[in-house]
Amino acid sequence: MRSFTYAASPARILFGAGRSAEIGAAIEEIGCRRALVLATSHQKADAEALSERLGALSVGVFAGAVMHTPVTVTQTALEIVAERRADCLVSFGGGSTTGLGKAVAYRTDLPQIVIPTTYAGSEVTPILGQTEDGRKTTVRHPSILPEVVVYDPDLTLGLPVAMSVTSGLNAMAHAVEGLYARDRNPVSTLMAVEGLKAFAASLPVLVKSPQDAEARADALYGAWLCGTVLGAVGMALHHKICHTLGGSFDTPHAETHAVMLPHTAAFNAEAAREELAPAASIFGGSIGGGLWDFAKSIGAPLSLRDFGLSEADLDGAANIATENPYWNPRPIDQTSIRTLLQQAWEGVRPD
Ligand code: NAD
Repeated sequence: MRSFTYAASPARILFGAGRSAEIGAAIEEIGCRRALVLATSHQKADAEALSERLGALSVGVFAGAVMHTPVTVTQTALEIVAERRADCLVSFGGGSTTGLGKAVAYRTDLPQIVIPTTYAGSEVTPILGQTEDGRKTTVRHPSILPEVVVYDPDLTLGLPVAMSVTSGLNAMAHAVEGLYARDRNPVSTLMAVEGLKAFAASLPVLVKSPQDAEARADALYGAWLCGTVLGAVGMALHHKICHTLGGSFDTPHAETHAVMLPHTAAFNAEAAREELAPAASIFGGSIGGGLWDFAKSIGAPLSLRDFGLSEADLDGAANIATENPYWNPRPIDQTSIRTLLQQAWEGVRPD
C-alpha cells in the first residue's frame, strides 16, 4: 500500500531565457526596495552590471562569496547589510554565492532572490552548510530557503564546459540519492527521473556546443528538478562521502560528486534495485557502469587521485565516512567503503 508524506517548498520559480530582466519586478513584488547583490570576486563585473540595471532598487554589490561559506565572510556581509540598510539579498552565481545569501538570511530573515549560474541546486533547498574554525556544519531552517529563484539559461551560456559537466553530475547525484531516499514521495521520484533525463539529453550536447540555448535550458531545468529533490528528501552514502572528502581533504565540490556518483550508485544498485530502475534504464541498464560510461563520454573527471588525495588518505576517509551511523539502502561498514573509495581513487569502471 502506498504511504508517504509530501511537503512542497514555498518558493516562487521564474524560469526561461531572458527572465533575469524581471529581477527588479521580483524585488518589488516581495515588498522590497533596497537589494544587496552578492557574488564571488570572479563574477563581480556581472554582479555590478546587474546592480546597475536595478538602479535605485540596488544598494550595491558585495563580491566576497567563497566556497564553503566561512562565517567570517558572512559577518562582513552582515555589516554591509546593516550599513546600507539592505532589505533583501540578490544572490548571483553558483552554490557558494547562494550559500552566502542563505547564511545572511538565516541570521536576519531577509528575503532572498537567487539567480543561479551553475547547476548545484542550492537555491531550492532550506539547507545551509557553513564553516567556522575549519569545521563545516549544516543547518536546515525555513528562513534559509530562498523566496524567489530566477532561472535564466542565458546566464549559463558562459559556464565553462568542464564546470557544466561536473556541476551537472553534482545535480544528478541529488536525483539518484532521492530515488532511494527513505522519505521519498511520488512527486520527488517524478522530479528525480525527469531531472536525470534532462541532464542525460543536454550534457552531451553542451560538451560539443556550449552555446546551444536549448541544451542550456534543458540542463538548468534539470538543475531545478534535482535541486528540488535535494531540498525535499534525505540523502545517504553518496552525499556523506562527498561531504567527508570535501570537508576533511579539501577536494573540489562538484568534481568530487562527479567522480563518486557512479561508484556510490553501483554500491547501492542491488539494495535499491527497484527504486533505481528508472535511472538505470536512462543510462543503459546498469546504474553504476552506465553512469560511469556517461561521465566518461562527457569528459568528467573519473578518479579521486586527480584531486591530490593520496592512497594513504583513503583509510582516514573511510573511517570518517562511517564513524556516525546513518541510513543507506545497503548497510555500510569500514571495509566496504574503503573498497569503494579505492575504486573511485583508481578511476576504474564500477560493475
Ligand atoms: P561555486 O559557486 O563555488 O562556483 C565556482 C566558481 O565558478 C566561482 O568562482 C563562481 O563565481 C564561478 N561561476 C559560477 N557560475 C559561473 C558562470 N556561469 N560562468 C563562469 N563562472 C561561473 O560552485 P558550485 O558548484 O555552484 O557551488 C558549490 C558550493 O555550493 C559548495 O560549497 C556546496 O557545498 C554548496 N552547495 C550547497 C547546497 C545546499 O543545498 N546547501 C547544494 C549544492 C551545493
